[in-house]
Amino acid sequence: MLRLYNTLTRRVELFIPREQGVVRLYTCGPTVYRYVHLGNLRSFLMADWARRALEWSGYTVTHIKNITDVGHMRQELVDRGEDKLIAAALAEGKTPAEIAAFYTESFLQDERRLNILPAQHYPRATDHVQQMIALIGVLEQRGYAYRSGQNVYFDVRRFSDYGRLSGNRLEDLLEGVRAEADSAKRNPEDFALWKGAEPGRAMKWESPWGPGFPGWHIECSAMAMHYLGQQIDLHTGGVDNIFPHHEDEIAQSEAATGVPFARCWLHGAFLLADGLKMAKSQGNVYLLQDVIERGFDPLSFRLLCAMTHYRTPLNFTLGALRGAQHALDRLRRKLLEAEDAGGDADQELVEPWRQRFSAALADDLGLPQAVATVWAMLEAGLPPATICELLVDWDRVLGLRLAEWCAEARTIPLEVQALAAERSRLRQARDYAAADVIRDELIARGYEVLDHGSQTELRRRGNTLPSNRPLISSPRDVPSLLDQPSRVRWSVLLFGQDNADEMVRAVSALLLRPPAGGIEILAVDAGSGEAAVESLATLAALYPEVRAFYLDHNPGEGAGRNVGLRQALGEYILWLGNHIEPLGDIWGPLEAALSNPAVGAAGGWGLRTADLHHFEPGDGPEVDALEAYVLAFRRSVIREVGLLDEGFRFYRNLDLDFSMRLRARGYTLVVVPGLPVRVHEHRLWQRTPEPERERLSRHNFRRFLRRWRDRHDLLISSSGVHEHHHGRHDHDHHHHEEG
Ligand code: AMP
Ligand code: ZN
Repeated sequence: MLRLYNTLTRRVELFIPREQGVVRLYTCGPTVYRYVHLGNLRSFLMADWARRALEWSGYTVTHIKNITDVGHMRQELVDRGEDKLIAAALAEGKTPAEIAAFYTESFLQDERRLNILPAQHYPRATDHVQQMIALIGVLEQRGYAYRSGQNVYFDVRRFSDYGRLSGNRLEDLLEGVRAEADSAKRNPEDFALWKGAEPGRAMKWESPWGPGFPGWHIECSAMAMHYLGQQIDLHTGGVDNIFPHHEDEIAQSEAATGVPFARCWLHGAFLLADGLKMAKSQGNVYLLQDVIERGFDPLSFRLLCAMTHYRTPLNFTLGALRGAQHALDRLRRKLLEAEDAGGDADQELVEPWRQRFSAALADDLGLPQAVATVWAMLEAGLPPATICELLVDWDRVLGLRLAEWCAEARTIPLEVQALAAERSRLRQARDYAAADVIRDELIARGYEVLDHGSQTELRRRGNTLPSNRPLISSPRDVPSLLDQPSRVRWSVLLFGQDNADEMVRAVSALLLRPPAGGIEILAVDAGSGEAAVESLATLAALYPEVRAFYLDHNPGEGAGRNVGLRQALGEYILWLGNHIEPLGDIWGPLEAALSNPAVGAAGGWGLRTADLHHFEPGDGPEVDALEAYVLAFRRSVIREVGLLDEGFRFYRNLDLDFSMRLRARGYTLVVVPGLPVRVHEHRLWQRTPEPERERLSRHNFRRFLRRWRDRHDLLISSSGVHEHHHGRHDHDHHHHEEG
């Protein structure tokens, strides 16, 4: 008997399917106009574990997972008539069907690589438009749907249970959507069931309401009912599906049938990266292919996910994945050893362990406890055959393909055997140099080479990961030295990806005219290519003043600079833009400005604002914000205002946020005019495509505004901002429209 957390009832309850011994399971599947990422895959893994746990407990499971190939139309996109699948097709010069087929295959390949059991059906939305039309027809007949122009909407006010799943009461929704009221709808919170095709639209179907295409939610109701009947037992998705998608699915389905739709709703928490939801729009996405290319076994991701409960957000890092990879290798090795030892399993020993494992699963799919049970069992000194039996049985749920790996590990391909034989011959001939070359080749092919006297044993290793340089995954991987006394006068922070030449330029300039009292340069690389990292490593080897840090990916500007901030030991810190080259003594003027304890930061360029929306260059000396071209402060202020906000992945406006934090602490910000620096082209800005940088800037600005919009009290008097002053020092200005 399994207990599961049911989003509908908000508690963990006994899962009882409608028909004894049979489970009807529906999983909201992928949108196939792009690659699925590890976040999507985490939610599919959750569904897979639910299914495996049910099957392991003796149920027969019918699993349906839809393929959304008519554009996963977020409501606002539907309203703008913008279908992502079509947009993607046009951009790639392909038909929507070609795009969908390509990404569907890629998704299925990812599922296979993660050993996710294939669903019995992967129905495609475009193959079920007739079912959707029929369902909309029923809703119209029963008075739940109404036409408006060429569209058909669901009237949520007619469905009294609306909001039960998400807890979103209609009154609250009304508040939220008031601003975007759509005159075509009776109530702003109504959602589209059918949309009329705009002229020139490729993907459209005939319907009683004219040519058009189905709304976002109707596909899942129609396909779930088509394959599983009016009442299903278990419905899964990520937490972002709860509202509106699943809320709307319930409304449509139950309005049409009059019976409860799904008994239990299971929702997986997000996979995060750098603390934010992994999402394409966020720019923090990893594909399964990415981690494979970095040398990981895809199943290491499976084990990583098993180690965190599905209702707990999981922050993905390559460091954590390395840990999972090592754990996976250990499990494989343990099974291999146990198999080698042979013997018969002791059923009396098996039973209590099986129960423990089963209890972990039964408690709301407790995979972390189940994995912990595996480790405990391996440490319990059981006879090898008992270990084998338990591991193989449990792996039916864990899905780590342990036995398959062991079977493969025992079969050594002929050409590898030939290499090993050649190496033995060379060793006998005492040609050790040549023998070692082959040894390296064998290791590179994934074998451990164990010499026992003249005999050599080859063992398949688990994966090896490149580890030539100490990589870090996040600022938390370096200790914070903020509480330690200063050891040098200035710490300079440099940060970037594939910008080693800029770093070299800055480092040589800084070292040419170092400050009295000493300097350290903290150069943080955000996952650059090997060549760029090489040149940074060379710098660090050449100059003792340079301390280099290598991130295994780009965690964004906020996190990247925090690596340096945590490690800095200077009395003063200089936050230097990558496009800035110091040409003379910048230290004296900055120190002079900072000698006033009321000054929180001093910099080369200041900004003034009257409303927190429009920032204009300000001559100062006192300004509302300082730009991160040349921005200096005492290290001690970080203890007061905290590290940088890592939600700012793109660099823009991170400096505004930092400035406001200092202002909120009562500090003033001053401009030091005429600092001897050269401003080069701002490469990151230049190489980011226009729409992308607009989007990223807006994202950051909204983040900034959310926090500071009500803090006009922090601004110095607005008299200094002139209405028509539009002089800007270069392209990288800070003028913002509210986005
Ligand atoms: P989509 O293709 O956008 O419909 O997403 C497919 C599935 O992945 C849905 O069930 C989403 O809830 C889920 N999902 C999307 N992003 C994440 C994430 N970062 N972590 C976990 N699940 C996610
Ligand atoms: Zn769905």
